Order: sequence, then structure tokens, then C-alpha cells
Amino acid sequence: MPETPRAHGHEPDAVISLNPMYVRPPESATIARWRLAPGETEPSAAYQVVHEEAGLDGNPRRNLATFVTTWMEPEAERLYSESVGKNLVDKDEYSATAAIEERCWRIVADLWNAPEPLDTIGASAIGSSEAGILGALALKRRWQHARRAAGKPTDRPNLVMSSAVQVCWAKFCNYFEVEPRLVPISKEHPVLDGSMLADYVDENTIGVVAILGVTYTGMYDQVEDISRALDEIEARTGLSIQIHVDAASGGMIAPFLQPELKWDFRLPRVASINTSGHKYGLVYPGLGWVVWREKTAVPEDLIFWVPYLGGNTPTLAINFSRPSAQVLLQYYEFLRLGHEGYRRVQRASQDVAKHFAAGVRTMPELTLWSDGGDIPVVAWQLSSAANGFWTLHDLSDRLRMRGWMVPTYAMPQDLTDIVVQRVVVRNGLSRDLADVFLSDLRSAIAELQSVSSVLTLPPHHVESAHERAVSVF
Ligand SMILES: *Cc1c(COP(=O)(O)O)cnc(C)c1O
Repeated sequence: MPETPRAHGHEPDAVISLNPMYVRPPESATIARWRLAPGETEPSAAYQVVHEEAGLDGNPRRNLATFVTTWMEPEAERLYSESVGKNLVDKDEYSATAAIEERCWRIVADLWNAPEPLDTIGASAIGSSEAGILGALALKRRWQHARRAAGKPTDRPNLVMSSAVQVCWAKFCNYFEVEPRLVPISKEHPVLDGSMLADYVDENTIGVVAILGVTYTGMYDQVEDISRALDEIEARTGLSIQIHVDAASGGMIAPFLQPELKWDFRLPRVASINTSGHKYGLVYPGLGWVVWREKTAVPEDLIFWVPYLGGNTPTLAINFSRPSAQVLLQYYEFLRLGHEGYRRVQRASQDVAKHFAAGVRTMPELTLWSDGGDIPVVAWQLSSAANGFWTLHDLSDRLRMRGWMVPTYAMPQDLTDIVVQRVVVRNGLSRDLADVFLSDLRSAIAELQSVSSVLTLPPHHVESAHERAVSVF
């Protein structure tokens, strides 16, 4: 880790002062910041310290940057607090929760048109990152087995995907030593659509990742076209390359809003799919799902067996202990909403996204990138009508003054000169709130348009991929 400069409060002896109301002399009025205190603190004082500091965070309702659920119904909160102490990995001890977990991923498999949802394999995970990595590990292991069986080397695996993939794919390639082959997106090809794929795949390709809901723009990679391009490659070269769909957000949108779109197991080349239960699955953070088309897509040697109900059950996970509450909450949402309920909720988010896009269209200083037609995400860039004295970063700052958290970031490689701003519409972002935002956006732009020289604030530093991972995705 690079050394961080010592900021205020980073001195080794820095302390936190307690509110005098919570201190009963002769108890100490301060607590060491960086060391475990030698003694105890009253629960009320400890609570106050944590509560007040966490209260400095932004208000999740005005966080238009995140895809992750920030509100659930009181019944869900009740289930959450009833199950906080249960460890998901204790399948023998908490066999009812284990049964619910299995039911959930089979429901998801069915939603994604797995040929035999009751005879395939799936898993819950801490999020799409872990879920996607499990999918990619299965691709890699299958490729290794096939190569070894053919007496060929296995030392140079690669994974083909668009340059606009989420950071979890860079992590997979880094941690599991796979070469990332990035097909650059461009203005002509804003998503991975199968064109140029033949230049990127070869006998060392473990698979192609398609994204259903690109994090930068909310647009869908064209999975059916990618599949067709791979069919042609197979016909020509004999290489049979599978697809993993990273449907972190789209996996819980497309089945309800674009049921005709073929992106899932209806395409025989799609071997596995992940989604984030905590995005449009509508559950609080800490939940992902991965499902394979069929059991044979997961090599036996990736599976660990854990005791369960006197027998053994197959598991696939990177973590061991995990909270089980989110799994129960997912089942709650499945029961609570059903197909029609999910459709209504996602449709409402999409309607608000389209309303947003319509509002942005009326602002000459902005040009839309995506209008919420795929996942309910709206992104825009600056147009030539802006006076040139300000950037979208300045606009983000002004919106932040009004409490709105709206990320601004450069597009990926080859498009890095394009800076976009993005709003993610989630359940709970009402049309009213959208109107308040649009009006704040309009006045922030009017203020910025009235400046007559370049804003003299220090220039925005170029965000590192890490910062983007933290603040945008
Ligand atoms: C959010 C996201 C991820 C990472 O998901 P987590 O659930 O946060 O781990 C991966 N891929 C895409 C396309 C995403 O939008």
C-alpha cells in the first residue's frame, strides 16, 4: 500500500473526545483513536461516537451514484435483525436457511431460462464480484482440463471482454493470472457487440465476458450478437468459446422489462451468469448470485463438500463465513413481489429514468449518452453549448453542495477524453425527488454558465481506477 500522508488526526496519539454529557468523571473524556483503549467505555458513549461519526456520511437517499439498495420495507428490517447472528456457512446448524438459499438460486436459474433449474448448480456470494469470479474460475478450469487432455500448454489463459468492464474483472485477471483482452468500446461500438471479436480470441481464450448493464453507461452488451460471432468463429476454427454474462444489474431488470431480449441461458453458449442481489434484486448490500447452465459447466474439482443434514452438500465460494440475513431478505423479496411485483417496481424505476433523460434533453449544455432504456441509468456528457469555463466535475461539486451525490468520470481506454456524469435510478427514487434533482441540476448549470472565466479551483486530479472502483461502481 502506498503511504498516505499524515492528515490532521493521523498523529499516533490522536484522541477522540467524548461529549461531556456522556462522561462521568473521573472517567476519561477522551478515547485513543488508533489504539485499543486500555479500558471500557459505557455502551451509550460508544454508541454515540460511532453513530455521530457514521452520521457524517452522505444521505443514501440522495446518493444517485450507487446501484445498491438503500431502502427496504420494515418487515425486511425485522427479518434482518432476527437473523444477524446466523452464519450462512453453518449449513448443518441452519439447515432451513440453507434450504432457502438453494431455493433462491434455483428461482434465479428459472428466471434466466436455465434448461433444468432443478438439475443445475448455483451459489450465493457476497456480491457480483465474488459471483463473477466463480463463473470465470469455472471457465478457466474447464479450459485447463481440455488443454491438458489435448496435451497442450495451459500457461497463457486469456479472457476477452470490453474495455468498459467493471473493476472485478481486472481483479479476477490479476488475482488468478489470466491475461485480460480488452476490446475497446468506441462511439461507433459503445458496447461489446461481436464485431472484432475474431481478432481477440484464440486457443488460449477461457471465455468471453458480456456485461448486461455496463457500469459506465447502463447499456447492454449485445449478448446474442456476441454468441453469433462466436458461432462463426467456431465454424471457421473449431474453437468453442463460452460466454459468462456479468448481469450484476441487468440480471434482475431484463427478465421483467425486456423479456424478449435473448441474453441468458436461451443462448446455448451462455455457460454462467452472475447478478447482484443487492442491486436490482432489491436487497441490502452483501449479496450476489451465480448460476450455471448445467452441472457439467462446473468442474468437480472446484467443488468443496460441507456437512449438511447428516450428508454432504456441494459448495462453491471464496469466502467461508458470511451473513445469512441477505439471503433471507432475497427470499422475502421473491415472495413479496413475485414476477408482477418485480416488473412494477423495475418499470417505475425505468419510468423515472426516462423522465430524467427527458429533463436532461431539455438542457442544451448536456448531451445524453444513455436514456435509461436498458437498465434505469442515465448518463450524459457536456455539449458544445456549455461555455467552456466549467467541467462536469464542477457540476458534481455544485450538486454536492445541495446534497446530491452524482459521479463524474472519464470513459475507459480510447474514450478517456469523454467525461460523463451518471444517475442510477433505483427503487425509492421517486418522480418527485427526480424533479427536485432536475431543478437543482438546471440551476447549478445556470450558475456555472454565468461564470466568465475558467473556474480557478485546483484542477481535478485524474481519478485512479481504484478511486473509481470506490466511488462510482
Ligand atoms: C456492480 C457491478 C459489479 C460488482 O458487483 P458487486 O456486487 O458490487 O460486487 C460487477 N459488474 C458490474 C457490471 C457491476 O455493475
